[in-house]
Amino acid sequence: MTAVLFDMDGVILEGPRTHPQVYADAADAALDDLGVDPTPSQRRDFREHDHERIRRHCRDLEIDLAQFWKQKETHASSGTHDRLRSGERGTYDDIDAIHELGERTAIGLVTNNRHETAEFVADYYGFEFDVVRGRDPTVKGYERRKPDPSYIEEAFEALDVTSGIYVGDSVTDVTAGHAAGLETAFLRRPHNREQSVDATHDLASLTELASLLESDGSS
Ligand SMILES: [Mg+2]
Repeated sequence: MTAVLFDMDGVILEGPRTHPQVYADAADAALDDLGVDPTPSQRRDFREHDHERIRRHCRDLEIDLAQFWKQKETHASSGTHDRLRSGERGTYDDIDAIHELGERTAIGLVTNNRHETAEFVADYYGFEFDVVRGRDPTVKGYERRKPDPSYIEEAFEALDVTSGIYVGDSVTDVTAGHAAGLETAFLRRPHNREQSVDATHDLASLTELASLLESDGSS
């Protein structure tokens, strides 16, 4: 059986990534939680993801890096979930194809986004994924993001299948999918129409996946 593993941002959720304001607000909230008042330039760095800079500022402000990181990730997750609940961020209109595919084969969700948000999305939109894997709320977890194949490998190993296809909307998805030993499917969305990639399959819509499984005879 061929499993199909999906990226989340730009595949299910509209737009290629989390809005930067979500991380800015999350960093501010985490700094509030920890009771520190950084300089404007430190605050700018806290709102981004450069952990060497963040590590230095944490040391200067005498706060724990791991604690800050986790708090920021938690706030970013609730900010993201609010945006999804309010409809401020939507989903693509072909995602029903994922539900249908799930009735035929093993499906999974593997994203660079936070694990908490991956689980929220799976649950909120009622997907029956056999495995869900997002990044851990740690610096180390952040470093394991694609193009590192390890989250895809972990998810794939959790499924009892012999082959798999990783579906994504970015070059890093294709790199990571191949590095994990899977076929890849590059999904065309408005933000990546012109991108040239070396994926196994090129898809105009998620609805094309069903025939892909039929044509290789492995479903
Ligand atoms: Mg993506």
